[in-house]
Amino acid sequence: MHTTRRLLLVLGDQLSFNLASLHGLDTKSDTVLLAEVMEEARHVPHHPQKIALIFSAMRHFAEALQQRGIRVQYVALDDPENTGSVPSELRRWQALMQPDEVHITECGDWRLEQSLKDCGLAIQWHLDSRFLCTRTEFSNWAKGKKQLRLEFFYREMRRKSGLLLNGDGTPVGGAWNFDADNRKALPKGIRPPSPARFSPDAITQDVLALVAKHFSSHYGALDTFSYPVTHAEAQALWVYFLDWGLAAFGDYQDAMASDEPFLFHARISAALNIGLLDLRQLCSDVESAYLAGSIALNAAEGFIRQLIGWREYVRGVYWLKMPDYAEGNAFGNTRSLPEFYWTGETRMNCMRQAIDQSLEHAYAHHIQRLMVTGNFALLAGIVPSQICAWYLAIYMDAFDWVELPNTLGMVMHADGGYLGSKPYCASGQYIKRMSDYCHGCTYKVSESITDDACPFNSLYWHFLMRHGDRLRGNNRMGMTYKNLDRMDESKQQALWRRGEWLLAKLDEGGAF
Ligand code: SF4
Repeated sequence: MHTTRRLLLVLGDQLSFNLASLHGLDTKSDTVLLAEVMEEARHVPHHPQKIALIFSAMRHFAEALQQRGIRVQYVALDDPENTGSVPSELRRWQALMQPDEVHITECGDWRLEQSLKDCGLAIQWHLDSRFLCTRTEFSNWAKGKKQLRLEFFYREMRRKSGLLLNGDGTPVGGAWNFDADNRKALPKGIRPPSPARFSPDAITQDVLALVAKHFSSHYGALDTFSYPVTHAEAQALWVYFLDWGLAAFGDYQDAMASDEPFLFHARISAALNIGLLDLRQLCSDVESAYLAGSIALNAAEGFIRQLIGWREYVRGVYWLKMPDYAEGNAFGNTRSLPEFYWTGETRMNCMRQAIDQSLEHAYAHHIQRLMVTGNFALLAGIVPSQICAWYLAIYMDAFDWVELPNTLGMVMHADGGYLGSKPYCASGQYIKRMSDYCHGCTYKVSESITDDACPFNSLYWHFLMRHGDRLRGNNRMGMTYKNLDRMDESKQQALWRRGEWLLAKLDEGGAF
């Protein structure tokens, strides 16, 4: 074995050549360690395609490093010596190689970072420079604020990055945010581009066989795998989006359509989150497309806001508030996650569409997650940790730092309103407005209390009634409660009874 001066551990979501811990790497004396471990694959039952993506991308990254003359120690999942966890693999290789130094870039998962900090080795930690805002910068910004607001943080990030700014520091177009232009339903006759697909090469086929062997009990299809697993493929997916998706992305980013799982969405979040794409390059490409006149400002601004606004914001909240954040349950929910989240076996067409495509592709876009599956979990009073575990398991791009604040804070309002000022609760009317799902549904979205009434309707009012003490004082909920108060008593009671019936059905383990 070569003498190793520095051992550089790279995690499965850190596959960037520019990773901070790889800066100044010496090809003669340093070794990069990558390990596929059972603990990370099974800590929740991750979708088989997500495991395949990470293992395949890790193997391709290791190969690319070796082609650059870098020494790599790669531990495959079925290596008989594999000890099964990241800290134990790090200890094993530290003992075998006796390096002078061990280097790691900060993790995306509090649990894993703690376990590495507790593993008994002296580790030199590096900031994750793939993000625009460091953990410390965020906590300085948040200091003294009772409630955080994305909009103000986002403006800071626009100023910091210089994106879409005039020479005098004012926002291009005269406003920071054009979200109001980005809420259109999909008109009839508009066809989204067919999704870019990437055929599995020999490395990916080996990984798919490995995943099929070890993770057959996890929910989700494996044979539809067609995600990019290299930097070049991820870049091709990105260019495809720039050419075919971006111009319409802004207008229809909140739209949903039956049997159209991807619409105009980029589907780059998984590649970005594991290091195959670079945040700054993506933003700069989008800004350039706007400046060249190929896309409208609302499309450019909406996309950039997702990346340097929301994405950085939720990461900041995660590191500021963990580990207590994961325990949040502001509404005191006690109901278990219904089984149909894992199977799609429900007669609610919107839920079936969103869950089926999640199982099929490990993907659903943000409105399907927030306003369909998430909205249902919020209205039904599901235990936050259970719905968080579902999102973490089922989505290709879900890593703890991004999934937890999005689900627990944004979807479930379980942090008591720290991350978002009001719960994103909605009746079936929202789903009807933004999709064609209701046309193909057993239930009637126009009804609330009949046996065939849309379950979202009564559950929405039931949610507002049972949490009135907490929510009536919220300024942004005033109009909603006025509407409730305007209803006559008998209507309110009928909504309550229908909601109770539906919730009892869930408690019996039933579906509807
Ligand atoms: Fe969903 Fe209700 Fe519409 Fe059915 S009627 S698709 S349950 S919103």
